[in-house]
Amino acid sequence: MSFSTVGIVGAGTMGHGIAHVCAAAGQTVVLYDVDEARVEAGLKKVSDNLQKGVEKGKVTAEDRASTLAHLNGSTHLRDLAGCDIVVEAVPERIQLKQELFRSLDAILAPEAVLATNTSSLSVAAIASAVADPSRVIGTHFFNPVHIMALLEVVVHPGTRADVRERTLAWGVAIGKECITVKDFPGFATSRLGVCLGMEAIRMVEQGVASAEDIDKAMVLGYRHPIGPLRLTDMVGLDVRLAIGEYLAGELKNTAFSPPALMRRMVAEGKLGAKSGQGFYSWTK
Ligand code: NAD
Repeated sequence: MSFSTVGIVGAGTMGHGIAHVCAAAGQTVVLYDVDEARVEAGLKKVSDNLQKGVEKGKVTAEDRASTLAHLNGSTHLRDLAGCDIVVEAVPERIQLKQELFRSLDAILAPEAVLATNTSSLSVAAIASAVADPSRVIGTHFFNPVHIMALLEVVVHPGTRADVRERTLAWGVAIGKECITVKDFPGFATSRLGVCLGMEAIRMVEQGVASAEDIDKAMVLGYRHPIGPLRLTDMVGLDVRLAIGEYLAGELKNTAFSPPALMRRMVAEGKLGAKSGQGFYSWTK
């Protein structure tokens, strides 16, 4: 049996997108965040993205209305108590995710699945915070979630087979192409993507070429659909910085170490699309 009631924790870049695809698939969704303004902003983004879909003829007005009707916002963790699966999409900090899973463990039914959208952290380490780690799995979505086809399902050594199978079936039900990956730092995606992004930032730092031209090199020369710097802007420089630090330590590879330029930009609040400025301007 797959899942029909889904809780999402964190209404930021990823959380609202995960909520969108689940609600569009007819699942009842509770989008929870500690910050009420983030809940409101997340719900508005889903509504706006659906409206864009209607204008482009990709979504019907009925589907938009039905998706929104399946979506509920909340600032009370208790509202997630009846969910079949809860996906956390809070910032990439292990203690934060562990604390959250501990709280969720106490309120969810024993058969409910606990999923993390971590981009790089050890799923087993997050799972160690709960009484029954066998119900924990990684569900790594990609940004923007309503557009990107991939769902990377990360299985730690203790994940139960039925949890894996139910999660894979759910991934298909919400329209994703799933891959199954071992719980190893950076999984199959972040390890390659972040490495490329960090090197591209070092190239900007060294004055090799402009951000635009480095991106153009990858798009036109290597057929990447998007350049590594524009992608870093879309992911969020702060998010990638945290992932880079973690991977540099875990894989003992300085290729993942965040360059000084990236640290400076994050300190100045240049986080990419979400702050309006990164390697590109996102104010229009
Ligand atoms: P974000 O900063 O956009 O959003 C995080 C949200 O979590 C915020 O709204 C914040 O208010 C909320 N939050 C913080 N603490 C909370 C708590 N204790 N309880 C409930 N809500 C809380 O972050 P994001 O970019 O959406 O990333 C979230 C996770 O997804 C991270 O683990 C990240 O590595 C991963 N991820 C991000 C991307 C991306 O492109 N941004 C892609 C894949 C995976």
